[in-house]
Amino acid sequence: MTSYAEFHHRSLHDRDAFWAEQARLVDWHKPFTQVCDHSRPPFARWFVGGTTNLCHNAVDRHVPTRGGQNALIFVSTETDQERVYSFAELHAEVQRMAAILRELGVKKGDRVLVYMPMIPEAAFAMLACVRIGALHSVVFGGFASVSLASRIDDAEPLVVVSADAGSRGGKVVPYKPLLDEAIQLSKHKPKKVLMVDRGLAPFARTAGRDEDFAPLREKHLAAQVPCEWVEATHPSYTLYTSGTTGKPKGVQRDTGGYAVALAASMKHIFLGQPGETYFSTSDIGWVVGHSYIVYGPLIAGMATIMYEGLPIRPDAAIWWSLVEKYKVTSMFSAPTAVRVLKKQDPAALKKHDVSSLRALFLAGEPLDEPTAKWIADALGRPIIDNYWQTETGWPILTICNGVEKLPSKFGSPGKPVYGYDVRLIDENTGQELTGASQKGVVAIEGPLPPGCMQTVWRDDERFVKTYWSSIPGRQIYSTFDWGIRDDDGYLFILGRTDDVINVAGHRLGTREIEESISSHPNVAEVAVVGVADPLKGQVAMAFAVLKDPGQADTPEKALKLEGAIMKVVDEQLGAVARPSRVRFVTVLPKTRSGKLLRRAIQAVCEGRDPGDLTTIEDPGALQQVKDLVGAR
Ligand code: ATP
Ligand code: MG
Repeated sequence: MTSYAEFHHRSLHDRDAFWAEQARLVDWHKPFTQVCDHSRPPFARWFVGGTTNLCHNAVDRHVPTRGGQNALIFVSTETDQERVYSFAELHAEVQRMAAILRELGVKKGDRVLVYMPMIPEAAFAMLACVRIGALHSVVFGGFASVSLASRIDDAEPLVVVSADAGSRGGKVVPYKPLLDEAIQLSKHKPKKVLMVDRGLAPFARTAGRDEDFAPLREKHLAAQVPCEWVEATHPSYTLYTSGTTGKPKGVQRDTGGYAVALAASMKHIFLGQPGETYFSTSDIGWVVGHSYIVYGPLIAGMATIMYEGLPIRPDAAIWWSLVEKYKVTSMFSAPTAVRVLKKQDPAALKKHDVSSLRALFLAGEPLDEPTAKWIADALGRPIIDNYWQTETGWPILTICNGVEKLPSKFGSPGKPVYGYDVRLIDENTGQELTGASQKGVVAIEGPLPPGCMQTVWRDDERFVKTYWSSIPGRQIYSTFDWGIRDDDGYLFILGRTDDVINVAGHRLGTREIEESISSHPNVAEVAVVGVADPLKGQVAMAFAVLKDPGQADTPEKALKLEGAIMKVVDEQLGAVARPSRVRFVTVLPKTRSGKLLRRAIQAVCEGRDPGDLTTIEDPGALQQVKDLVGAR
């Protein structure tokens, strides 16, 4: 067995041979003639000359060998539905959807915007698009009309695929009025809207534009739509980043590189075997949903669970009951979801047999030690953190147990993943930091490995300017995250580069202060931001959600608790990191994907405009912050 260190080394220093080997994990219609074309940096073109198809790799190729096995398992605790599609059935459904899209005029290179709840038709639509060489642009179903309109204008879709409604916590959320309003607002007008009617919310139809899915599906029941063989470099989709730090960026992904990267990650990172079941609790509106609900597991010949509903409804055992029922071997979730479970009865996690699980993978946000320990204890299965971005499409840092079993370390997602030449860079000088315990920007030396973003959709200049020009004197990809390396080569993410606080010349990561505050037993969750201060340059300000709000329900009690929390920070990090205030809120402002909107909190604290809030989950949360600082 090769050691991980060798494996990683080879991926960088014998790059083409390494990736040519990984490329055997997928089917090619025409073999590639060049592994990587990096002649026009920072752009990289992978598997040049080869033709393939994502849908073929995810669906068709499995039909002869495992046509009867589970492919897509749909579970909705919102509508009490459970439906299992075999690979053969999925193949048929995708061809029906492809035939419909063709009838609506969709051709290779056209965009199809998917604005859908977590229902099987959403996956059919994605797979049907790539089947015929069209690009999907999935927009998270929870977004309101303004956010949707801006994405319609950016993607300029020929067709929008949508549904009457989603449902959240048992409450129907009609989509069609939001979609109609978005199309009113947008400059670009889609020609056709394909509507899946779930019978949840009656909706108005615009004659000549809106088509119902059900009758068209009937019409194309026996459809046979062959896969369009596209160049490996043909774009498969566009997808927007979460908008945590500003206006979301439209990430454009290729076909061949993405297929190879996902297939390899299923083997080396997620430990998935054909015939097994994968469960990612994300939403198809996010990159995790693209890579690890739809494409990754299916490419690996695994069944994938698509779950519509909350993690705590009907009760906090629902996910684990699915793990038991479908013998899930790999599960993928986010720290934010674990924190939701943490507020529930831990007995719920013991109700079901989760021994089939090889590991629970978590990503999307820093995994703080208390949360990691809590879930590891409650579940009794390995927890594996992984760090990546919408831009990269698959993990940058993690533990690749499929190559060599290495220990995890609390607070660290792990080591650089094969294919990623990760560097830590001093953001002022552009110098590389090679020693242990030096803080720097996490950056990736080009070319980015297969599967990463090709460019910003229709904006090569923004791609170069945003990602490759931010570090002085270096042409290197910036993640805009701040990290530190230990003696064993594990990286720790300290927060985003714009979340660094400079208190009287000391540079502090908001994450370090947050970690320290969350070790106080009454703190469930906390956000720390740097606020301009005439004396110190910046001071840290903390907003915490309490496990027991009763301990701060009078000004006196709140002050006492604030003092106790400050003492924790003093002891752990030193007085320099002590927040100037710790305020208590019932909920923190987050994006719909569950990320803390620190920049909005910071702006409000400094009396500035909070900027693009199109992805905010609950505007009331920001109001709480406003009320508190207004009352200062
Ligand atoms: P935007 O780029 O629009 O501001 P975003 O960065 O939140 O939004 P995503 O691509 O969804 O958009 O998130 C990637 C970011 O999430 C990473 O850059 C990092 O800050 C954070 N992140 C993801 N996984 C981890 C992890 N395991 N540990 C720490 N941080 C993580
Ligand atoms: Mg980002």
